[in-house]
Amino acid sequence: MTTNRTVQTAADVALWLAVHRGWHVLPLNYGTKRPLGGCVDCRAEHTDHTPQTCPCLARAEGALCHGVWAATTDPGVIARWAQRWHTSVWAVHLGVSGLLAVDLDTRPGPPPRQPLNGLAWPADEPPPADGLDTYATLAALSGGTVGTDTFTTDTPSGGLHLVYGTEPLRWKGSHGKPRPGDDTVRTGLGWQIDIKAYGGYVVLPGSTSDAGQYRRSSTTTTPRRLDPWLVEALARTGHDRTATPAPPATAAPVPAFVHGDSRQARFAAGALRSACAELAAMEPDTGRNRKLFRSTTRLAGMAQAGWIDRDVVQAALADAARHAGLPAAEIRYVLASGFGRPLPVPDIRSAA
Ligand SMILES: [Zn+2]
Ligand SMILES: [Zn+2]
Repeated sequence: MTTNRTVQTAADVALWLAVHRGWHVLPLNYGTKRPLGGCVDCRAEHTDHTPQTCPCLARAEGALCHGVWAATTDPGVIARWAQRWHTSVWAVHLGVSGLLAVDLDTRPGPPPRQPLNGLAWPADEPPPADGLDTYATLAALSGGTVGTDTFTTDTPSGGLHLVYGTEPLRWKGSHGKPRPGDDTVRTGLGWQIDIKAYGGYVVLPGSTSDAGQYRRSSTTTTPRRLDPWLVEALARTGHDRTATPAPPATAAPVPAFVHGDSRQARFAAGALRSACAELAAMEPDTGRNRKLFRSTTRLAGMAQAGWIDRDVVQAALADAARHAGLPAAEIRYVLASGFGRPLPVPDIRSAA
């Protein structure tokens, strides 16, 4: 039964890292390599609580709600998950574990003309073949070295996860790729370099997905502290969540009305409030358009049923979408198509 042995290995590595390194770990879906579903209540889009206030995650026996935020260091919970979920893919939630991963990819394809965000590619340097090249050049330009004496995992596709120690929840993640039609990388660190930290995870060594095996390639199992050059590069490119941000023109819009006080009206107001808060906090390339559409169809149904005022929904969602940086024309278009496809209202008679 090789399958069983593989399952054991991935979960065992996760358990070991949780106990000996304090890493917050969780099982992933074998096929999608994404966190498992969680309960119906926490999955619903109108969930009016955060992972920090989630009743499921507060339970001692653990729960797989809210994606990576379910990750735990509790050996008892990990053992129960390993028994319950026969998956050979486990991951670490980096942000809460005080970790940051530099994920170097080797996807085929021509590099952009400027592969580094905010730095000119040296004229005497050949274009990078992959993320490893991009990262090595970034390190050299920054007066540092890549340094492989940290916890490193080889991925099935030939990439690398370099895992470093840092302050918990300090850094946000990013993708290093140019926008379509652009030949300059303007987000993240550089081409084929992904940063994973807050709310981000990497698959642990010992895991096997349908793409193949993840193997630790470093001798050390201790992440090295982030190098000063990398701290600087991350800060320069907007990854530091603790930096005082240029304040947005307005604070995140949160509709403050309560319209009537029937159960339906309160439910609709709560749904709109959480939809707006989530939408307003979304960054480019994270599905803002889709989120706006889905929220609109849901709230449109409630407006049609008389639970909430259509104009209130429209104004609040438009405001949140603007806050998230969606262009006005796109917002108008998505709102119009969303209002054209109202969803049936949920059955909330049995809800508390
Ligand atoms: Zn739940
Ligand atoms: Zn929850």
